[in-house]
Amino acid sequence: MLKNELDVTLHRAENLKEKPDQRQLGFGNYFTDHMLTMRWNKEQGWHDAKIEPYGNFSLDPAAMVLHYSQEIFEGLKAYCGADDSVLLFRPMDNLNRFNDSAERMCMPRIPTDKVLQAMKGLIYLERDWIPQSQGAALYIRPAMIATEAALGVRPADEYIFFIICSPVGAYYAEGFSPTRIYVEDEYVRAVQGGVGNVKTGGNYAASIKAHTTSQQKGYTQVLWLDAVERKYIEEVGTSNIFFMINDELVTPPLGGTILPGITRDTVLQLAADWGIATCERRITIDEVIAAAEDGSLTEAFGSGTAAVISPIGEFGYKENTITVNKGKTGPLAQRLFDDIQCLQRGAAADPHDWIVRVK
Ligand SMILES: *Cc1c(COP(=O)(O)O)cnc(C)c1O
Repeated sequence: MLKNELDVTLHRAENLKEKPDQRQLGFGNYFTDHMLTMRWNKEQGWHDAKIEPYGNFSLDPAAMVLHYSQEIFEGLKAYCGADDSVLLFRPMDNLNRFNDSAERMCMPRIPTDKVLQAMKGLIYLERDWIPQSQGAALYIRPAMIATEAALGVRPADEYIFFIICSPVGAYYAEGFSPTRIYVEDEYVRAVQGGVGNVKTGGNYAASIKAHTTSQQKGYTQVLWLDAVERKYIEEVGTSNIFFMINDELVTPPLGGTILPGITRDTVLQLAADWGIATCERRITIDEVIAAAEDGSLTEAFGSGTAAVISPIGEFGYKENTITVNKGKTGPLAQRLFDDIQCLQRGAAADPHDWIVRVK
């Protein structure tokens, strides 16, 4: 157990940064005054945990992460609640998923209870950075990188775990509105047996080409199809996807190629609570098109921490345009968006114990 001892020392920044304009935050453009770091090596396990001034790492150019991408991350948010409270939404799910990612990438597991405590300490210290306005939050980015200097392809002997925080604006700064989605039938995101279910940097590096190409064509995001038949729907950008067909909420199953989203799980749970039929099953793009044509598809939306819910108004597939709900936000997407945000701000009952209070 000694290896899991985590004493966090605090080194306060001498000068605090000027806070950015809360109306111009965007996503991931500003970082707070402090970060959490801790190191791992074979002899000591996790050690040297500290909250220290936000700043550069010094890495050997041979650091293994720079060559073979042994890296994982997470993303969650801290929200301002009533009475100046600070709340996290299902943070243990993020830390447990982080450990699942660590396992797959042959990296050391983190002691989740202690890391949650340390994360809360960091967020409390940075509480003045949490934006107040509806939809805005403090985005928390835990990550781990292989730092050992060596060029062999094998698990590294040394790692840094860190958490940085970034105040982010409302995802829908101009209002909650449906997106145009490009159905990608050339590039793929993940294959069975690969790392599609892991939050590891390489997945995102590999997705940039398809994403920028779709943006040049005027779309917001890419809809990924399965790598074998280019037929089954997987995910949308870095979100999970849902379809309302014949009053049943359908989402692709967690088969190893998609990310097990916490928002996805939240949507499935809330829909069940509300008496809506849900189904995790494989669904093809052809089924979606047919359902759009015969009117049985009434809504489509993505789910993820960044946007919470992002309604889909249109799919572009090959030469065709498929419109969903006349290009407007559907009632379920709207209800989920409103209710999840209420929950996250502590303004709704929390029967599933999803909220963790920092302050
Ligand atoms: C993070 C992520 C999601 C969404 O997960 P949440 O836990 O809901 O934020 C979905 N797909 C991909 C590829 C992701 O990286």
